[in-house]
Amino acid sequence: MSGRALLVINAGSSSLKFSVFRDDGQGDPAAAINGQISGIGTTPVFEAKDAKRAPLATRSWTGGEAPDRAGLLRFLLDWIEEHLDGATLAAAGHRVVHGGTRYAAPVRLTPEVMDELEGFVPLAPLHQPHNLAAIRALAEAHPELVQVACFDTAFHRGQPWQAQTFALPRELTEEGVRRYGFHGLSYEYIARRLPQIAPGLADGRVVVAHLGSGASMCAIHGGRSVDSTMGFTALDGLPMGTRCGTIDPGVLIYLMREKGMDAGCIERLLYNRSGLLGVSGVSNDMRALLESIDPHAEQAVELFCFRIAKETGALASSMGGIDALVFTAGIGERSAPVRARVGDKLGWLGVAIDEEANEANRSCISTPASRIPVYVIPTDEELMIALHTRNALG
Ligand code: ADP
Repeated sequence: MSGRALLVINAGSSSLKFSVFRDDGQGDPAAAINGQISGIGTTPVFEAKDAKRAPLATRSWTGGEAPDRAGLLRFLLDWIEEHLDGATLAAAGHRVVHGGTRYAAPVRLTPEVMDELEGFVPLAPLHQPHNLAAIRALAEAHPELVQVACFDTAFHRGQPWQAQTFALPRELTEEGVRRYGFHGLSYEYIARRLPQIAPGLADGRVVVAHLGSGASMCAIHGGRSVDSTMGFTALDGLPMGTRCGTIDPGVLIYLMREKGMDAGCIERLLYNRSGLLGVSGVSNDMRALLESIDPHAEQAVELFCFRIAKETGALASSMGGIDALVFTAGIGERSAPVRARVGDKLGWLGVAIDEEANEANRSCISTPASRIPVYVIPTDEELMIALHTRNALG
């Protein structure tokens, strides 16, 4: 690896995914190493693979000798430095879930910016603290390294006000109780990639379904987000692996009043015990549900597809029409049965899925007669972060 290298970090509560990109200044940075540290806080395991997914290294620690987060990042940086092959580590880019209303673009991290990002913790209590902890630990381990925050909310900041506003008293909206939208780095990548695949769609009205263990959808018009299914938190919109998606807020009042549930109890119910897992009682994993013969598993799949089709109609309405539909992320990229079922429900819109192309996960999975084309585009949030980090370096 010569030239410079960029480190990309996506830090969660107990795991930290990382990628090292080679950046020779020509074309997009290229991923050279991918890996993760799992079991942070208990028994950490480090794994790294090369660009062809061949294992490069593994290491594990048992309880007593396990380093803390800063120690693990120091280990990671030392390991990366040894595997840079002559390149210089120029910067680290982080996925940060919340940039509030302030950040519509990535930002170079300073103590002042960190203080501000700390203020968004109440808006994303399950993710933001871990994102920020990794930044702090990396700064401690490598103080002179440039660090850049790339926000999941930023791509949606340009949405019209109607799409960002709840019908609540104004003072709450002004305080920040509004629709932010998430998965922005994934949608931004798709908005950049789609015109390379279908040049005619550069100015088009496109509905993108990001279907992973977290799932959301976005209306993109002319490359910009105009509406999304996730709102104030990553709970809104589609049902997900374990999250409920859109729910009548009256249900929460009922749970508090009649079941005596407090905030923590409701949080665990809606984030961890609902969605595909809650409806099926079988699994949060789409593969397991598709293989199951349990009728509740079938109902969970049906509910998921029903809501995707329903939101497609809503998002198309936000754009005054629809010129293409795109599937991405784990389920969107790999689950032909889910795509086929959604396509079927959108028959009224003139969508026609080509069975063979769909089964083969081809890039275009609609028939020539389909009124709108349907695409499968693998997302690459890490590349988007690497690009932003390079731009921040100037
Ligand atoms: P995350 O949101 O954690 O990044 P991914 O985008 O990796 O998630 O998607 C994970 C989900 O993708 C899992 O819940 C799994 O059910 C689903 N998935 C992966 N491969 C397949 C497949 N071949 N068929 C159906 N679902 C799949």
